[in-house]
Amino acid sequence: MIEKIRLYGDEILRKVSKPISKIDDDIRRKGKNLVEYLEKYDEFALSAPQLGYSITMFVLRPIWIEDTTKRKAMVFINPTLLEFEGVQNESEGCLSIPEIFEKVKRAQKVVFKAQNLFGKWKQYTAINLFSRAVQHEYDHLEGILFIDKISTLKRKLLQGKLKKIASTTKDGINIG
Ligand SMILES: [Zn+2]
Repeated sequence: MIEKIRLYGDEILRKVSKPISKIDDDIRRKGKNLVEYLEKYDEFALSAPQLGYSITMFVLRPIWIEDTTKRKAMVFINPTLLEFEGVQNESEGCLSIPEIFEKVKRAQKVVFKAQNLFGKWKQYTAINLFSRAVQHEYDHLEGILFIDKISTLKRKLLQGKLKKIASTTKDGINIG
């Protein structure tokens, strides 16, 4: 089942997600839903809270792999960021904040560990786009959005657009 994407203004996006203590059928179903959403809408990455699940999980498709048949979605459960290195400052957007793109400073490289859907822990070294996506999605699990990381002035300039997104959220109209 494809769930609706939660938009800016929805309070679940501001909650700290709960760690997953047991990977059971319910968690596997939620992971599957996240992956299905990515594939259906041909998106890159998505965190659990964005589909209304306040749990520490995110998914992404390795779009940097040239062979498109090998871009199988990856599921990351209970991710823990271990090391950061370097800086990148690239334009970012968010499915929960449609049509807004701003440059965000992130570490260029991040080392992290996470469990897969079978509960197995694995360590990853992510650079550039992969690294940025991991940091963006990890932030979602902490209730942080990318617009929190831009300058106060830029955020002020976006107030009108953000209010509009938040008001459509209240009416239950999904424009994402
Ligand atoms: Zn996002």
